[in-house]
Amino acid sequence: VAPILLHFLYSTATPYTTLPSVLLLGPPGAGKTALTTLLERGSSSDTLDGPVAKTHTSQVPSSIELSVNSDDPSTSYKTNLDNESATAKKFLLVDTPGHPKLRASSLMRLNAAEPTIKSSLVSDGGAKSKIKAVVFMVDAAALADGDALPSTAEYLYDVLLTLQKRFHSRGGSRAPASMPVLVAANKLDLFTALPAALVKSNLEAELGRIRAARSKGLLDSGIGQDDVDAGEEGDWLGGDGSEKFSFAQMMEFDVDVDVIGGSVIGDGPGAEKWWKWIGERV
Ligand code: GDP
Repeated sequence: VAPILLHFLYSTATPYTTLPSVLLLGPPGAGKTALTTLLERGSSSDTLDGPVAKTHTSQVPSSIELSVNSDDPSTSYKTNLDNESATAKKFLLVDTPGHPKLRASSLMRLNAAEPTIKSSLVSDGGAKSKIKAVVFMVDAAALADGDALPSTAEYLYDVLLTLQKRFHSRGGSRAPASMPVLVAANKLDLFTALPAALVKSNLEAELGRIRAARSKGLLDSGIGQDDVDAGEEGDWLGGDGSEKFSFAQMMEFDVDVDVIGGSVIGDGPGAEKWWKWIGERV
């Protein structure tokens, strides 16, 4: 009798389900709010009167609920799945404030072995949603003139380093679930924007420079080379002993980085490739 009773208790004790989430990060002006608005309008049944996201300056991340076609993640975000005989998979897209002073709170969410985020959209106030993927949005037009590169790369460095440390902080033998990261190179409708391949190589080069500068900082502060090399918890991003940084080095820590170009507004490649990437990971 006992196991049956336990089963009964267990199945009735979960009155709500918490949707997984995708965390949207990136510097201010990259287009995070614009993307949130596009996806929300696109998948809303009433496309013209759908709710509009506004650039928010508060500390509270804003979430929207979206659904992908789980039978075919490449189904457009514009498709209203209610009208299709498709299996919809729901998730939350959580837009985070991009202001540098508020970044620490975004990063804190990625720290745990099983990163979660509290969601205002979940009926139970204490419910936490599991973070399945990170979308780091960059302005590929701003990156072209070089000025935005250092600050964008600094932020990305901290995101990737947090995910790398999370890998090391795993308890016991169980590795944390891998964390896919999409670097969404936005604004490719502008002819001045860097193509995705250059966004990738420029970011990798800058991340390598930051890595070298930070480890030099440690050396200058009196910490020996051995400590820096051995320091699993140090600030060295990516594989040991590699001279050049590449995103592929993050695979060692189960952080899988893709760089895909797109656009939210204007006459560009659009957002469907990002949407498909997300749909395959939620
Ligand atoms: P956030 O700070 O990351 O939320 O950025 P916003 O969504 O507020 O966008 C910043 C600016 O970039 C706004 O003026 C947007 O209209 C513009 N923007 C966003 N996406 C695109 C795009 O794909 N192409 C172009 N040309 N402009 C964009």
